[in-house]
Amino acid sequence: MEYRRLGNAGVKVSALSLGSWVTYGSQVDVAAAADMMAAAYDRGVNFFDNAENYAAGRSEEIMGAALKRLGWRRASYLVSTKFYWGLADGPNEKNTLNRKYLMQAIDGSLARLGLDYVDLVYCHRPDPDTPMEETVWAMSDIVASGRALYWGTSEWSAEQIRQAWEIADRRNLRKPQMEQPQYSLLFRDKVEKEFGRLYGDIGLGLTTWSPLASGVLSGKYAKGIPDGSRLALPGYGWLKERYPEPVLRAAAALGPIARELGGTPAQLAIAWCARNPNVSTVITGASRPAQLEENLGALELVPKLTGEVMARIDEAMAPAASAMRD
Ligand code: NDP
Repeated sequence: MEYRRLGNAGVKVSALSLGSWVTYGSQVDVAAAADMMAAAYDRGVNFFDNAENYAAGRSEEIMGAALKRLGWRRASYLVSTKFYWGLADGPNEKNTLNRKYLMQAIDGSLARLGLDYVDLVYCHRPDPDTPMEETVWAMSDIVASGRALYWGTSEWSAEQIRQAWEIADRRNLRKPQMEQPQYSLLFRDKVEKEFGRLYGDIGLGLTTWSPLASGVLSGKYAKGIPDGSRLALPGYGWLKERYPEPVLRAAAALGPIARELGGTPAQLAIAWCARNPNVSTVITGASRPAQLEENLGALELVPKLTGEVMARIDEAMAPAASAMRD
């Protein structure tokens, strides 16, 4: 496994990590979570991503129970959580980054995870209703209290991230260290264009999500929706709308390129994310051990992504890019 610094922070994350969205609670129970986390850890994965609202808190409970079973040294792994949507309906309990919510949310997550602290804590989305200064102050206080080690953002704009960083800089508060954006062959612009100056200017690290666009880039949806796959899960119909036919066909066209390099389309799509040096870690997802095993092999393809191969990948994905723009 390769380890990369989280932007300009000293802490290092494995280039591939494992997240629990969708899977924990609906497809993966405590025993399966522990098995897959152990398999990942044995291959060098040191970062496990979570969020308060995944499966309405159940995902944190499952990861917490799995960690308890596994009994790893706390210094040997990182766990995250994220706040914004909340778990209750009160005016100060959902869709907010106000101080009251954040201060209670961190304690709730730590209780569900069974941990004294999380390593990374994120503002899961921006909150236009709370002054940025209030959120920055609260996140900084969470870090200063020892309940999290680094704080960051997810799906914030470059301008919002810079604003938060500048407030923290001016007020001598803990600065946002990382952003968690979607990044894959289908969603490139934020990471490759919008955030361009932030890497050097503020030392932003990236923990990127959905490298397979929910499994689509494995090519498995080209001939219909397999039973038990994410697009077949109740409540995830919106994902079907997001990826029209040309996208599914383009994903299948990655197959021959991947095979020539001695890999699979899923490995190629994950390697493509990992080859970007601004990406600290690619957060992968798996509903079963065989997928995890396959995905963890992706780094072997990174050195094979020559300029010529990258151009062929772009060509294969071009119809998908125009279909996504329509
Ligand atoms: P992916 O895009 O990699 O999708 C993972 C899913 O694809 C798996 O659960 C599985 O679904 C399928 N899959 C995985 N590997 C293979 C394979 N080799 N062959 C075929 N199918 C495969 O990642 P996620 O969308 O799960 O995102 C990863 C993590 O990122 C999340 O767990 C979460 O931690 C984080 N995230 C963060 C967000 C944010 O807003 N900050 C938003 C979304 C995710 P199945 O078997 O069910 O088809």
